[in-house]
Amino acid sequence: GGAQELLLSRIRDVPDYPQPGVVFKDITPLLADPEAFSVLTEALAEVCVRHGATKVVGLEARGFILGAPVAVRAGLGFIPIRKAGKLPGATLSQAYALEYGTAEIEVHAEDLTPDDRVMVIDDVLATGGTAAAAMELIRRGGADVAGLAVLMELGFLGGRARLEPTLAGAPLEAL
Ligand code: 5GP
Repeated sequence: GGAQELLLSRIRDVPDYPQPGVVFKDITPLLADPEAFSVLTEALAEVCVRHGATKVVGLEARGFILGAPVAVRAGLGFIPIRKAGKLPGATLSQAYALEYGTAEIEVHAEDLTPDDRVMVIDDVLATGGTAAAAMELIRRGGADVAGLAVLMELGFLGGRARLEPTLAGAPLEAL
């Protein structure tokens, strides 16, 4: 509909970034447009409410930009999942495979409780590796995963299929 067209029109294709042959989806034009940013925030907040989330997790770094206003709009708390070494308190860590090498993400253990149903928010779903690691981290912290909500899914990379076992029935919504 109109909202989808507005959002799509504000995502910029950047060829050969971060390396030759890759077309990067740049969301900064969307963030700079107050109407598009508001439409996006409202749509993601609606997903959180509809699936009964009690907390919003944002994935560093663009998941912070989206997740924080979504949490406020939905009346929920916000929990950052950060790259390793950034959080000062006691953390849980999850390593995951990249195309070359590995990466590691962390969450403050005390931010997650068994009563929580967590909606994971990010801008772009590519291979699904980051989101899978985040959901595993959330469950290891004792909380439930309410779902995964992203602005944009790069369907040709097969992330949705790869995430199916980790989602374990939880919804994946791509606007
Ligand atoms: P994945 O783990 O699914 O392969 O990669 C997803 C992560 O990389 C997300 O945190 C996302 O922000 C980032 N990412 C990968 N490709 C793109 C892209 O084309 N545009 C943007 N904005 N982020 C991307």
